[in-house]
Amino acid sequence: MNCENCGAPMRLVRERDYFVCDYCGSYHFPDANRDGIRVLNEPSNTLCPVCHTTLVVGALDSIRVLHCPQCLGNLIEQPAFALAVEYLRRHADAQSFPPPFNRAELKRPIQCPRCGRKMHTYQYGGAGNVVIDNCLDCSIIWLDWGEFNRIITVPEEEPFELDGG
Ligand SMILES: [Zn+2]
Ligand SMILES: [Zn+2]
Ligand SMILES: [Zn+2]
Repeated sequence: MNCENCGAPMRLVRERDYFVCDYCGSYHFPDANRDGIRVLNEPSNTLCPVCHTTLVVGALDSIRVLHCPQCLGNLIEQPAFALAVEYLRRHADAQSFPPPFNRAELKRPIQCPRCGRKMHTYQYGGAGNVVIDNCLDCSIIWLDWGEFNRIITVPEEEPFELDGG
């Protein structure tokens, strides 16, 4: 990304998740998107399993994901996924009801961007009516745009309590 002040390319300070301009000294702190991901725009060597755009590095707190700048989905290592959900739940400030479960999403074939094999597609066992794609061999999970948000902004328990309490 380029400096808004002087137009020079900015340098990513990896450990801190912000950009600094070495020419004029400006800083840029990427905002978290709806999924809580701060997009760091550093290209990876992995292609999006859905739209085949080069994934870029994104940060969720200290957790690294690979983010698609085109379809806005996220690829995350399986061990990091549980941490990510936990982190997002702690920081969630709103609760909403998820859209109904979309059966058609189960039929979308997705190939693992690491090993090229077909990913497992199934309904996430927690909240949010989310379909996730998972490669067991590579231990990575694909989440479409907004799915992190859906997982964390709905109550875990069912049936929902509608008395406002
Ligand atoms: Zn600058
Ligand atoms: Zn994509
Ligand atoms: Zn794989």
